Amino acid sequence: MRLQDKVALITGAGSGIGRESALLFAREGARVVVADVNDAGGEETVRLVRDAGGEAVFVHADVSQASDAQRMVEVAEETFGTLNVLFNNAGVFHAADGSVLDTSEEIWDFVMSVNLKGVFLGCKYGVPALLRAGGGSIINTASFVALMGAAVPQIAYTASKGGVLAMTREIAVEFARRNIRANALCPGPVDTPLLAPLLADPAARQRRLVHIPPGRLAQASEIARAALFLASDESSYVNGATFVVDGGITAAYITPE
Ligand code: NAD
Repeated sequence: MRLQDKVALITGAGSGIGRESALLFAREGARVVVADVNDAGGEETVRLVRDAGGEAVFVHADVSQASDAQRMVEVAEETFGTLNVLFNNAGVFHAADGSVLDTSEEIWDFVMSVNLKGVFLGCKYGVPALLRAGGGSIINTASFVALMGAAVPQIAYTASKGGVLAMTREIAVEFARRNIRANALCPGPVDTPLLAPLLADPAARQRRLVHIPPGRLAQASEIARAALFLASDESSYVNGATFVVDGGITAAYITPE
């Protein structure tokens, strides 16, 4: 098993990529702390992990709040004795986040507080726990939009993910000699509730699908498998990477007809 004897904390594990990762990490031997602001979703993930024979615990945490971020790390250490893998996955996407011309400051602040400050706080409280454990792996979820511009913009979301990418590199370099690796996971569009409002309109869906070489969205399980690699010791020399899992979007100029 690829995460035998590891303790993994996954934020936003009540849905989508975080839930699939919790299930996969547990199948690979990890004991999992499921952190989410959505209690029902988080509890359901724990139930699914336990039903599959794994070990997990839920902690209510709004990653944009320092006290919650601190608490989720404490829960990991109190419940399972240590922390080895920190997966800062929680993120939001707001329907009113659009062009720089009409996105409000309130939307900007909200998206930044979860997507960027949330990762900062996860690291602020998580890194000391990883150091106490003698090292570990940090996975921060950015996005392919941190690498490309779009004419159908989400200005706050994109800026927040660019920040995650830059912050991850800095953490990767600062702690490398203390046995901590940090990598930014950059998924392409994934079929999860996050994107549902955006893709409900068939024209909006098609506007995006045309730019994806395989012509389909990713499944959350495909992103979870990449996260598993970054979490495990198999990626022992992967540090500070922009780990792109996007079906080739960032490689494409003209996609197949
Ligand atoms: P999702 O909406 O299915 O899951 C996100 C989870 O985060 C939810 O359970 C939600 O309750 C939780 N969450 C939201 N705000 C929170 C907060 N303040 N504190 C704690 N938990 C909070 O979305 P997903 O697609 O699984 O997204 C996971 C990550 O992947 C996000 O960071 C997202 O930006 C990123 N991402 C998603 C896509 C995509 O197309 N779905 C693409 C690239 C990157």
